[in-house]
Amino acid sequence: MGKYRLLREAVEAHLPAIHVLEAPSASDGELALAHDPAWISAVAEGTTSAAQQREIGFPWSERMVQRSRRSVGATIAAARAALFGDAGEMGQGVAANLAGGTHHAHAHKGSGYCVFNDVAVAARLMQAEWHRRHAHRAHMLRVIVVDLDVHQGNGTAAIFRDDESVFTLSMHGAKNFPFRKEASDLDVELPDGCTDAPYLEALDQALASAWARHGDAPPGLAFYLAGADPHEDDRLGRLKISAAGLAERDRRVLRWLRERRVPVALSMAGGYGRNLATTVAVQRRTLEEALASWRAWQAVQEVGGEVGVKEGLKVGLKVGVKKVENEGANGGRNEGGTDSVRSPNPMKESGR
Ligand SMILES: [Zn+2]
Repeated sequence: MGKYRLLREAVEAHLPAIHVLEAPSASDGELALAHDPAWISAVAEGTTSAAQQREIGFPWSERMVQRSRRSVGATIAAARAALFGDAGEMGQGVAANLAGGTHHAHAHKGSGYCVFNDVAVAARLMQAEWHRRHAHRAHMLRVIVVDLDVHQGNGTAAIFRDDESVFTLSMHGAKNFPFRKEASDLDVELPDGCTDAPYLEALDQALASAWARHGDAPPGLAFYLAGADPHEDDRLGRLKISAAGLAERDRRVLRWLRERRVPVALSMAGGYGRNLATTVAVQRRTLEEALASWRAWQAVQEVGGEVGVKEGLKVGLKVGVKKVENEGANGGRNEGGTDSVRSPNPMKESGR
């Protein structure tokens, strides 16, 4: 889809501190952490039924398989960069997928332009990698998913329904797709036409509530689906959030995580602006906020403190964005893509 190419070009032209990397492809073994083997092989071998393809919203093709694998791979790469960093480095704190956020995909099927659930796979894989490094610790890596795409993260909610190690927060339009919602750990439903002030107020309350519910076992990794589709000019969003409101949203989420030293992997998730340039501009702002948060995270690391954030000590030498050609069969409403970015270091992007 042109949207992802435009975003990548905007990042490369205007945010040179962000290091863009090519998205790797997720393997069957990685996908199996969140998906049924039968669904993985149906997609890989092209044996999905007409009904299954209809539910996804675009037809099967070899390119679709590659794009879906890379969209997951980019979120994995972003999460790994945020949490662990490259060999010999500390975790970068912030990284992104320039696409990703395929939150309607369930364990056994795709839906709503989503084939595989990038965040679900990456969350489980990071838990496994963390456990391998910290096997002496009794507890598991806890993960929080902050899904602010305007559509409910129903696939993610279903996959983690009985998994207490992953907290799912979804804030979405009450009357929007999917019309039959799943139960997340915390769902916040917004009325049609919701504007900036009540939106940001609901966000603050949701974050506070999510944190309180973790008790004395806080999350060690976050996934943030920074959907652009709550924007007022979105064709599918039904809300009235301004570009400035969305930038403030991103700032609040990223600051909230940073102040608690929770590394985060962003995904761009949905965005269906009447004008494509509007969606790309919103997503670019999101990446600007991510870059700023990455800098603040690094500054704290260098100072070795927990408090004082010294701005601008080190400007991103290597933000990682991953790219993947995503052309697209995704028609209009899709949220999915395939790039991964790392903020001045790792942010990756991929999917919806
Ligand atoms: Zn969406």
